[in-house]
Amino acid sequence: MDIQNLTIEKIQEGLLAKEFSALELTENALKNIEEKEKDIHAFLNLTATLARNSAKETDGRIARGENLLPLSGVPCSLKDAILVKGAPCTAGSRILENYIAPYDATVVKKMSEAGAIIIGKTNMDEFGMGASTENSSFGPTRNPHDLRRVPGGSSGGSAASVAAGEVTLSLGEDTGGSIRQPASFCGVVGLKPTYGAVSRAGIIALASSLDQVGPFAKTTRDAEILFNVIAGKDPLDSTSIDHTYNLQPTTYNLEGLRIGVPKEYFAKGLDPQVKEVVENAILKFQSAGATIVDIELPNTKYALAAYYIINTSEASANLARYDGVRYGMHKEADNLLSEYLATRGEGLGAEVKRRIMLGTYALSEGYYDAYYVKAQKVRSLLKQDFDSAFLKVDVIMGPTSPVLPFEFGAKTHSPMEMYLVDTYTVPVNLVGLPAISLPAGTANNLPVGLHVIAPAFQEHLLFSVGEMLEHL
Ligand code: GLN
Repeated sequence: MDIQNLTIEKIQEGLLAKEFSALELTENALKNIEEKEKDIHAFLNLTATLARNSAKETDGRIARGENLLPLSGVPCSLKDAILVKGAPCTAGSRILENYIAPYDATVVKKMSEAGAIIIGKTNMDEFGMGASTENSSFGPTRNPHDLRRVPGGSSGGSAASVAAGEVTLSLGEDTGGSIRQPASFCGVVGLKPTYGAVSRAGIIALASSLDQVGPFAKTTRDAEILFNVIAGKDPLDSTSIDHTYNLQPTTYNLEGLRIGVPKEYFAKGLDPQVKEVVENAILKFQSAGATIVDIELPNTKYALAAYYIINTSEASANLARYDGVRYGMHKEADNLLSEYLATRGEGLGAEVKRRIMLGTYALSEGYYDAYYVKAQKVRSLLKQDFDSAFLKVDVIMGPTSPVLPFEFGAKTHSPMEMYLVDTYTVPVNLVGLPAISLPAGTANNLPVGLHVIAPAFQEHLLFSVGEMLEHL
């Protein structure tokens, strides 16, 4: 049995037809992971006991003749920033190496209640800071399509675990592209939902006004099923929003679909090979009856700079809690300040320290208006750009990443070069919109993602577009 190509539907058909039990499927997945991890290193921890218990529950349900739940029997992984009660949760950081989560994140509770089999926690750039998993304290993940190349980041382990067929679904977290960019690099589907659509309770925060949790899957339909399970208002997260989605699989008439193509997303810096694949994908929609509209998002050029001010500012505040007293690593010293210095000095990596310093600077008196407030103003301008674009079009399309999956070490010498990888993904986080990366084809045998952006709470339009692309 090879779970590599099983969708949720196929798994559940197999379970009901008694071709395999959920426990057999789980044991098989665990064995498969053990083999593949030698090459991939997508996982930081396995939650095998939890997985076996959920599998037995599903098998009991089937034996009693009860209906299956939306995720019954489906092997899933979770980015290691998502708390699972009793399991280690490191956020890819040495400082949390020995931290055990005291409760389940709301998304984990929802997935477990929907029958999911949670197999383990996946590798990531430390606290979500990076685009390649090379900033993980525990060694990088390798891209299943080419082991010499990065899987993208920061949720690189999640994307690779799905692409390598280790699990069917994964949850990641996206602050500036960390779901969509690794999805693009690994050739899978990855969705960043509308800000507030999914609860962030029990997620280790990077930048709270940008962070969202979302699904990875091989197919759009599977991503949609997971999204429907995790979406919704949560009293434990005051930023979550009460929005009623239509949970029926949507179909959208291609005839009427208006696709906006911003010239700013095809400017200098885009690898011509990526450009060709993305343009061909957009042309397929056109041949099938969609209308292509040239649009402008003139403030795009300020997005990356504004993002890195807001990201570092919020991160510097969020990461103040890792003081060696409340969570994880603790270094003894003569006085409190020396303890802070020793713990944070040893526990945090170079990129994390860089961002804490940049963010603290941007928020300090005398600089706050010049940096943080100005960056917030850029956010409003970007919002206006998108609002006027969506008067003319239903969705916006472009590349997810300006570059193909790169080789290890190719960008580690220059933080700026690593940041440029986020050019097309960060605008969406700054304005809170939903966006998806869809496998659009390959260049040089490496996956290329098509980035599709929709108005707020139009996730189901994104799923429809994804399904269309799978059939074009
Ligand atoms: N590459 C981006 C960054 O380093 C994305 C981070 C994320 O989405 N978590 O900030």
